[in-house]
Amino acid sequence: MGFLKVPLGSSPSDYEMVVGKPQMQELREAAEKLDGLRILNVNSTSLGGGVAELLMSQIPLAQQLGVDLLWFVLECPPAFFDATKGLHNGLQGGEFNLSGSAEEFYLGCNHTNSNKIGSGYDVAFINDPQPLPLIEFLTGIPVWLWRCHIDLSDPNPEIWQYLKKIIQKYNALIFHLPEYIQPDISYRPCYLIPPSIDPLSMKNQPLDETEIESIIRKYHIDLERPIISQVGRFDPWKDPLGAIDVYRLVKQHRPDAQLLLVGAFASDDPEGETWYRKTIAHAGEDRDIHILSNLEGVGAHEVNAIQRASDVALQLSKKEGFGLTVTEASWKGVPVVGRPATGIKHQILDGITGYLANTIEEAASRVLYLLKNPDVAEAMGDLARLNVSEHFIITRELTRQFKTIAATVEATPNKT
Ligand code: UDP
Repeated sequence: MGFLKVPLGSSPSDYEMVVGKPQMQELREAAEKLDGLRILNVNSTSLGGGVAELLMSQIPLAQQLGVDLLWFVLECPPAFFDATKGLHNGLQGGEFNLSGSAEEFYLGCNHTNSNKIGSGYDVAFINDPQPLPLIEFLTGIPVWLWRCHIDLSDPNPEIWQYLKKIIQKYNALIFHLPEYIQPDISYRPCYLIPPSIDPLSMKNQPLDETEIESIIRKYHIDLERPIISQVGRFDPWKDPLGAIDVYRLVKQHRPDAQLLLVGAFASDDPEGETWYRKTIAHAGEDRDIHILSNLEGVGAHEVNAIQRASDVALQLSKKEGFGLTVTEASWKGVPVVGRPATGIKHQILDGITGYLANTIEEAASRVLYLLKNPDVAEAMGDLARLNVSEHFIITRELTRQFKTIAATVEATPNKT
């Protein structure tokens, strides 16, 4: 991967048409405050998952606003990603033992990548645990921010203690939600910035009915029958098997229901294939369960159509840093039924924009209710879209990030 050049995409004036002049003006002013700073942004994949989704839209918009921002994606072998997925799982509370060789890969790969990045930056903006140790090896950058996209509400104590030693070297930390600030680092400057969607991206731009139909029919899905969907990586935390269980309960009362499970394989997620196979096995021979991925050509455009064609979206994640898939479905006016994982309960206003459900049975009964009452589903969907447009739109998130960078630079002694 290395340094990534992203096509410029929509222009600031295109965004102004969607979010209005005042919001765009605030963003422009925040961008001006970064004038003269060379910013390095690092993460571990350009494809699949929420972080890649955010950066794909935000980097080109920031560049068009005159921010001198470069995007570097770590280049590492599979053993590195086995170690970092373990750390990711550990941060979400799972078991993981960072053995000697896993730690060697973790630190060694960051060391190697630091040589490829070069020098001359004023600020490093580091996403998630994979590139966290770069701070140990990249010398000469005075300001370091770490943005965590993971559900950190209840981390595995050993993994947390290990990573904390690196985390506390950063000048500022950014979390999605207040629950993720662990008390033992709260003395560091911690900022809260929830993620957002890009309303003009292929994933979220408006689609007309004919486009939706032609995409959906390609996958032999019947638009005349109820569609329940869950979009998300094939990952134990997302519980694709639970989504099948919900569908099966719904199916007892609505034999016409169909389930779409859509999951891309992220290059930094080594568990994807195993969980893809488990999902297929759990679905068995049911022809109304459609398991789709990038292998079947499902890209951003297709996800857009699938979300728009859904009567109800499911998000049964047991842990969810935020859950952009919830934001995306909500933006399309589709009510979401989700487990109350931290990121999800901050997005679904229970009984207003969708439902929070603690059990498979509860989720199934909410889905059935929404299928039986399309007027209620539509009204909830409208409120869901409104909630996204008020809180989770790219221009708001980028403004907060720019302000956070400017404030951190300002507060750092010996900056350039
Ligand atoms: N996604 C996708 N295709 C898929 C599955 C997921 O494009 O088959 C996208 C999804 O639309 C969303 C992102 O990947 O933009 C997932 O972000 P989220 O925050 O929901 O979860 P993460 O993968 O970061 O845990």
